[in-house]
This record gives sequence, C-alpha cells and structure tokens, in this order.
Amino acid sequence: MTTPPLRLFFALPCPKDLANLLYAWREGIGADGRPVDVANLHMTLAFLGSVPRGRKSELLELGKTLPREAFTLQLDHLGRWRNGILHLSPSITPEPLLNLVHRLREMLVALDFPVEQRPFHPHLTLARHSIRLPDAQPSFAWPVRKITLFSSENSPRGVHYRAIGDWSLNP
Ligand code: ATP
Ligand code: MG
Repeated sequence: MTTPPLRLFFALPCPKDLANLLYAWREGIGADGRPVDVANLHMTLAFLGSVPRGRKSELLELGKTLPREAFTLQLDHLGRWRNGILHLSPSITPEPLLNLVHRLREMLVALDFPVEQRPFHPHLTLARHSIRLPDAQPSFAWPVRKITLFSSENSPRGVHYRAIGDWSLNP
C-alpha cells in the first residue's frame, strides 16, 4: 500500500500571545464567518499542496538555507476579499519578508516544486466565509521570529497544522 502524500506549506506561525489577542479582538468586533482556530493563526509564505513523503527531507534542507533576518509586521489593515476571507494585513510589507518569500519561491522552483505565480499578498486569515467587513481599525505588532514548515491534516475536530520543521530568525 502506498502512503498518502503530505499537504505542506511554509508559514509564519502567529505567536501564542498575539494569537490570543487576535482571538479576543475578532470576537469584540463581531466578525462573522467560520473563525480560524486560535492555534491555527498564521501567515502563509508558500503553499506546496500535495508532496510525496519522500520529498520532505528536501524541504527541511531548503529551510536551513532561508534568510534569517527577523522583522516586525504591523498588522494595521482589516480586509475582506470576495472569496469570503476576512484577514489582517500590513499596509507596508517589510523588506525582509519580501526577500524571504522571493528566496523561498526561487529555491522551490530550483527543486522543481510547483510554486504560486501570483504576487504575494501577506495576510493572516481571521475567518472564512465572511460576508461582512466589520468597521474596525486594527493595530497589532507581530515580532516575527520563526518560519515553520507545516503539514495540514484533517481530524474530526477540524484542520490541524502539524509543524514538521522550524527555523528561527535573528533579531
Ligand atoms: P480547510 O481547507 O480545511 O478549510 P485550511 O484552508 O486552513 O483548512 P489548507 O487548505 O491545508 O487548510 O491550507 C493551509 C494554508 O495554505 C492556508 O493558509 C491556506 O490559505 C493556504 N492555501 C491553501 N490552498 C492554497 C492554494 N491553492 N494557494 C495558496 N494558498 C493556499
Ligand atoms: Mg483550505
């Protein structure tokens, strides 16, 4: 029997303190839709989709070569896309983040992984299937200190992201 592939993505995991703050803030503004679990809050850097298990080690090696410059994300914009994604985003994307995503995509292409062609829109999803944009002005500072390779797994309690590799950034 063949083992099923993994569903992988590189992301910035939201620190626990900030995740708790965002959770409470989201409740306070009365956001609609299906809320993202507090443990799952993150910013996707690169979504790989289905990856054969045998290729996991290539991604763990790739992770070691990523730029390590820490940065702070100012989440100062609340938006909702037509696909129902209610999200927070930075109005200014820090240079180290752009650099990181650029290098990540470059290395994925070099290894022949399928890579997103669309421009990178940094965002942290708060809820899905939202039909109303609350009138609220966020102001959250996210000190980014870690990159994680996650495996997205389904369980009876909903989707769970399992960290299979992480790399710390240097302030
Ligand atoms: P579910 O799909 O069960 O509602 P989820 O969307 O949280 O849960 P995944 O679909 O595994 O879980 O997605 C993991 C991350 O990758 C999320 O940030 C998601 O927005 C992003 N993602 C998923 N599919 C794509 C895609 N086709 N292109 C870009 N990013 C994607
Ligand atoms: Mg999904």
